[in-house]
Amino acid sequence: MSSNKKLFIQTLGCQMNDTDSQHIAAELEKHKDYSQTDKMEDADLIIINTCSVREKPVQKLFSEIGQFNKKKKEGAKIGVCGCTASHLGKDIIKRAPYVDFVVGARNISKIKDVVDIKGSVEIDIDHDESTYEFATAKTNKYRASVNISVGCDKKCTYCIVPSTRGDELSIPPEMIVDQVQKSVDMGAVEVMLLGQNVNSYGRRFSDGREKSSFTKLLQEVSKVEGLERIRFTSPHPLHMDDEFIEEFARNKKISRCIHMPLQSGSTSILKAMKRGYTKEWFLNRTEKIRSLVPDLRITTDIIVAFPGETEEDYQDTLDVVRQAKFDQIFNFKYSPRPGTEALKLADIEVPDEIGSARLIELIELHKRHLEAIMPTYVGQTLNVLVESLKPNGEICGFTDNYLQVFAKGSDELLGKFVNIKITDNTRTSLKGEIVQ
Ligand code: SAM
Ligand code: SF4
Repeated sequence: MSSNKKLFIQTLGCQMNDTDSQHIAAELEKHKDYSQTDKMEDADLIIINTCSVREKPVQKLFSEIGQFNKKKKEGAKIGVCGCTASHLGKDIIKRAPYVDFVVGARNISKIKDVVDIKGSVEIDIDHDESTYEFATAKTNKYRASVNISVGCDKKCTYCIVPSTRGDELSIPPEMIVDQVQKSVDMGAVEVMLLGQNVNSYGRRFSDGREKSSFTKLLQEVSKVEGLERIRFTSPHPLHMDDEFIEEFARNKKISRCIHMPLQSGSTSILKAMKRGYTKEWFLNRTEKIRSLVPDLRITTDIIVAFPGETEEDYQDTLDVVRQAKFDQIFNFKYSPRPGTEALKLADIEVPDEIGSARLIELIELHKRHLEAIMPTYVGQTLNVLVESLKPNGEICGFTDNYLQVFAKGSDELLGKFVNIKITDNTRTSLKGEIVQ
């Protein structure tokens, strides 16, 4: 049955927000008869789902909703959801009175109840969203994202997430497995398990059941028939104990690409960030995992110019980057966030121009690494899961260790694994020819 009510959702921010947006759309479709449109001007309801991890998304939110308000069709409603909603709450409506409702990152299960109530604000970070059965979200045909926990118990001193998403609660394993099964039934072959700190999974369930572990969850999820590849983000290096690393190495369904967010290579800055590990622990973990997993690729997050970061601290970060040989780095310049502990360190903030110079140097260092590493794939034959077909007739897919590969192909190959002999490379992707 097609609906007359149209929903337009704009997502700002991280992968977690993308999945939340899918849930919002699925809930509104199931309970309120909305169908999605990609034309904002046609929408009866416009939702902006936000992130407030760094400063820019907040500024972007207000400029974006201002534009929506000017261009929206008459009578269309505007809702603000996500982390920025949790953090700014009713101030959003004060600053932008045309906004109809505000729903925080841990309250999206309430969307169907508030959508018709002008002025409603739902931002309770203690809300138990871990056992709410969301309507099945639409997935990219071959990939699904499944949340495994809500909130975060770590209190990294720079991070706004614990104050916008609350304490960590694990989603019961049977609900996760069921969601993975449903996604596979809808055509997915790969699943991305999502949480702010996935590998602390199982510490606390809202129904008080016995503790479990991420390793056990991986074992359960990998039993789902038809599921070929498991990925997860974001794990915390502190919880990468030997049991976890050994499961990662042993379980053939787990993608050989792991995210290991370093944040800083300096032990004293890591202490000030309350990350709970040292430079040496981090390097020991990367060495252990590389020694057990052939062709492993490692991605990371790094923050430069955390308050008090000296040149020596920064050199420690560069040292870890050289030793760990990351395959992808998400680089950030420290951004002071409201309500975080690091705000108290304002008197030792690193001057902005020094922060920018450090960021540029780090990016350059990484570019040189990629220029050295990517050509080494030329001549190799790689197994690729084909996910899309470009208008120019090229297929695009990813290897088990998450290298992006292009080749001439056809739509018959979509969703299949093919062998591709690599003939060319850029810094971020590979090109090749399909072989038998
Ligand atoms: N839970 C994940 C972890 O611990 O790695 C990260 C989640 S956070 C949404 C994604 C990344 O944003 C972090 O890894 C960090 O590098 C970056 N980030 C968080 N707060 C930041 C801040 N105040 N300034 C700059 N970058 C920040
Ligand atoms: Fe933020 Fe730290 Fe939790 Fe990641 S682990 S979400 S950086 S508090």
